[in-house]
Amino acid sequence: MRYQESKEQSAELLRQVIALMGQHDAPFNPISFTVWYEYVSGMNSWLTQAVALAMASEARLSGATLLRLYQEGVAEVDPSTMYKIANELQQTMAGMGEQASKTAQRAGQFDEQLQGLTTALGNSDAAGVTTLISQAREGTALMRSSVGELEQQVTAGRHEIARLQNELVRVRDEVLLDPLTQILNRRGFDEKLAVMIAQAPEPGCSHGLVMLDIDFFKQVNDTHGHVMGDRVLQAIGDVLRSCAAEKAYSVARYGGEEFAILMPDASLEQAQKMAELVRQRTRAMRIRDRRTKEVVLSVTVSGGVAVMQLGDDKQRWIHRADSALYQSKKAGRDRVTCA
Ligand code: GH3
Ligand code: MG
Ligand code: MG
Repeated sequence: MRYQESKEQSAELLRQVIALMGQHDAPFNPISFTVWYEYVSGMNSWLTQAVALAMASEARLSGATLLRLYQEGVAEVDPSTMYKIANELQQTMAGMGEQASKTAQRAGQFDEQLQGLTTALGNSDAAGVTTLISQAREGTALMRSSVGELEQQVTAGRHEIARLQNELVRVRDEVLLDPLTQILNRRGFDEKLAVMIAQAPEPGCSHGLVMLDIDFFKQVNDTHGHVMGDRVLQAIGDVLRSCAAEKAYSVARYGGEEFAILMPDASLEQAQKMAELVRQRTRAMRIRDRRTKEVVLSVTVSGGVAVMQLGDDKQRWIHRADSALYQSKKAGRDRVTCA
């Protein structure tokens, strides 16, 4: 488990978290709570640094900043990928450490040579001084090359760390994406929905949820095969992306042939319009044979729309949108119903 504290320990952390929440501007939601909890417990060193950095430029952290910190530093990444990246980082650091200790060793040898030289000078041993000077010069050259190598290694290490950080960001995204359609998967949907529920809508707005289901999709598979079915799913993914692009709404593959659109700060009317747009673009879509270019099939979708209401939790909200979707199916499909 991520959190190991006893009830008493967590009560102490809670006290500190509440004090911090009071000092900053972010709303008192579970996302801010989690960020502050991990921050005061000291369990998340990345977060500790990131919070300090954020506070350097923003004295009172906003909800948006805490959300970013949550997404970048708290939301889960799958363990095997984390393990791989941690391993690579360790190797990079070990390489840099090795080079540093080699350099330090050479510095030690060089120091001994200089000490010998000082002694010889003190004893006025002219012959010894000449030999020692040439040795010290060789030592200097060695030191210089060693420091140069160390510098190179540090630079390479820095680049490697930046690359791994980018990779980490990428894999975090990948964990949340459906490989077939390249839109959010169920896990991505759940995360975005949780974030949306945690944030109060702007005054006069609500949050919108659109659920969509392809009509008679089993027939598509049965008639044209699974590969063609997959192409239809991809095409619907493209439709959703294009419809949601303007406002950057999140789109997700909720299940097999079910999709969802999450619309923060939207009215029921806007959500209905969005569902209608998807429905119309879907019915206008023509899937062609890749070889002959002939139109092979077209599909339709049914939609259900619900906005978040006071006291809604995730299940109740999804259930309302799903029931509306079911109404669309019952009424003959290829239509949108609002809850
Ligand atoms: P309805 O209009 O009532 O929604 O009928 P339907 O045939 O679309 O619904 P049903 O639930 O009977 O069938 C859904 C089908 O979706 C069955 C399943 O094989 C197919 N499906 C689910 N996931 C995938 C997938 O990843 N690829 C393909 N090709 N088919 C899938
Ligand atoms: Mg279905
Ligand atoms: Mg269906």
